[in-house]
Amino acid sequence: MPTSRFAPSPTGYLHLGHAFAALTAARCGTRFLVRIEDIDATRCRPEYEAAIFEDLAWLGLAWEQPMLRQSARMGAYATALEQLKAQGLVYPCFCTRAEIAEEIARAGDAPHGPDGALYPGTCRNLSAAERTEKIAAGIPYALRLDAAKAAGVVGSLAFTELGAGPNGETGRIAVDPLLFGDVVLARKETPSAYHLAVVVDDAFQGVDLVTRGHDLFPAAHIQRVLQALLGLSEPAYAHHRLILDADGKKFSKRDHAVTLRALRQRGVTPDEIIGRVGQADAPMISCR
Ligand code: GLU
Repeated sequence: MPTSRFAPSPTGYLHLGHAFAALTAARCGTRFLVRIEDIDATRCRPEYEAAIFEDLAWLGLAWEQPMLRQSARMGAYATALEQLKAQGLVYPCFCTRAEIAEEIARAGDAPHGPDGALYPGTCRNLSAAERTEKIAAGIPYALRLDAAKAAGVVGSLAFTELGAGPNGETGRIAVDPLLFGDVVLARKETPSAYHLAVVVDDAFQGVDLVTRGHDLFPAAHIQRVLQALLGLSEPAYAHHRLILDADGKKFSKRDHAVTLRALRQRGVTPDEIIGRVGQADAPMISCR
């Protein structure tokens, strides 16, 4: 009885790529949840959230209530952070974006991860006194995972891919805890960041089948590490292909012509959308 979820951020209107992701999640789960990932208050808008529900219902989807909003879960993320801090795996990072970019440029061939150059570790080795001084001076800071230390704690780990990664990866996949380097767990302006919020909520909601696009396949590595560190249950993953535009690029929130509402206004029916994203002849991936 898998529980799956579709977890959009309300930062724009849903497009064909989202329709495919939502339809896949709904098809693969016996319980299907929608989670609104709105921790970034500067980019999320209530009208986009309302539009998400309207578009999903128009597609013919129904999801379990009550629906969860990440903005209401900051306390749970803070508790998880405390757990990681207690294990000595978190450090404050006072760097600005510009300082990080400068440090990376200075280093020359800085190692890269899925999101670009890895954080060079500038603040990892600050002394306790330096940290206290900066905090007392009111310098804003993010919290980062000490990935090397975390790797030592979790040992060898794997996650289960029931679909396939972008390069056909499937089955039990060995985790690389260093893939994202010292990831941000809490931002300067919000007390959580994507990876932490996702693992905390997937476990809280009993999500045991995470379906999502290939673009988030690498994220499973660090998310599996956080699950292990926090003692959370391990979901299975089923990553799916991305719906690409005519140029072979991922749709972006700026492609207004392929938003579900623009298509609907042009008279396209839900069945036509389902056919267009290749869900008429599902299964595209094996969900179990
Ligand atoms: N909120 C993420 C997004 O909109 C998806 C998170 C996930 O499926 O893990 O891309």
